Amino acid sequence: MKVAWIGLGNMGTPMAANLVRAGHQVVGFDLVEGARARAAGLGVIVATGAAQAVADAEVVFTMLPAGRFVRSALLDPGGVLDHLAPGSVVVDSSTIDIATARELHEQVTARGFRFLDAPVSGGVFGAEAGKLTFMVGGSDETLALVADVIDAMAGRVFHAGGPGSGQSAKLANNMMLAINTAGLAEGAVLAQRLGLDARTFYDIATVSSGDSWPLRNWYPVPGVVETAAVNRDFDGGFAVTLMSKDLGLALQAGRETATDLPLAEQVMGQLASLIELGWGGKDTASLVKLVDGSLGP
Ligand code: NAD
Repeated sequence: MKVAWIGLGNMGTPMAANLVRAGHQVVGFDLVEGARARAAGLGVIVATGAAQAVADAEVVFTMLPAGRFVRSALLDPGGVLDHLAPGSVVVDSSTIDIATARELHEQVTARGFRFLDAPVSGGVFGAEAGKLTFMVGGSDETLALVADVIDAMAGRVFHAGGPGSGQSAKLANNMMLAINTAGLAEGAVLAQRLGLDARTFYDIATVSSGDSWPLRNWYPVPGVVETAAVNRDFDGGFAVTLMSKDLGLALQAGRETATDLPLAEQVMGQLASLIELGWGGKDTASLVKLVDGSLGP
């Protein structure tokens, strides 16, 4: 298919590159020159602006930082919708607030196009490996039209439901991840201070009821899980700022549905402390530093 790609950042570039590898023609645009150059090196045809990128496209993907960027790229005068052929499909794979995702469904379809909210899980490694989990909100028919394209970037594709359901699944999932990671930090420090060997406790917990995805992948004591960011001074991985963004969107969804989320609120405060201490770019498992007190009072 002829694909346009808006937003060639950490996620967008490897995702677009996988589409090129799968044989799709991909024309992309990013505001940042360096991002455009990197994508060009991976076979993406770089356009001079969003308008040029979408001129021939049958499907347009947006992979942008937040809802207001997506709204502006699509709906602003002279933006994507003003240059897209009628009937084309717009897929937003950014993580954005549910209200904006639903509004975009309405506005985009009202103008004669099709729309899916299709956020992803799996991070930059998943994007590079073409193994992202896609959580899709929108109609069956629209998903069927772009299923082959999405498959080239995906390990699993879930049709979560109607408009906004992809974002709903993503935000509820990441809220649980944040809370589980905070719980893991407390469990790991307590086990250590009780004199347990970290590897032994890890082996016990992974086959007991304290098991969790962050336990198995992010255990925050060096030398236990090879891939865990703790072994690299928490560099790389799932940045605190990104988790804070996702948790903020989940808390917003909580307010909009009159749902009390005290645990999420608490972890949000811990993430804010890490950001204040200059740890915003570090992996979220660095929450352990607040529990063991190694970042100071
Ligand atoms: P990023 O900041 O690396 O990339 C975003 C890109 O969008 C930037 O290169 C920026 O220049 C570009 N951009 C902004 N406005 C634009 C516009 N109007 N036109 C063209 N380009 C524009 O961010 P990322 O890590 O690639 O994340 C993108 C989205 O994916 C976010 O919503 C994020 O929450 C979500 N996400 C990220 C990860 C991850 O691990 N990084 C994982 C899952 C989901």
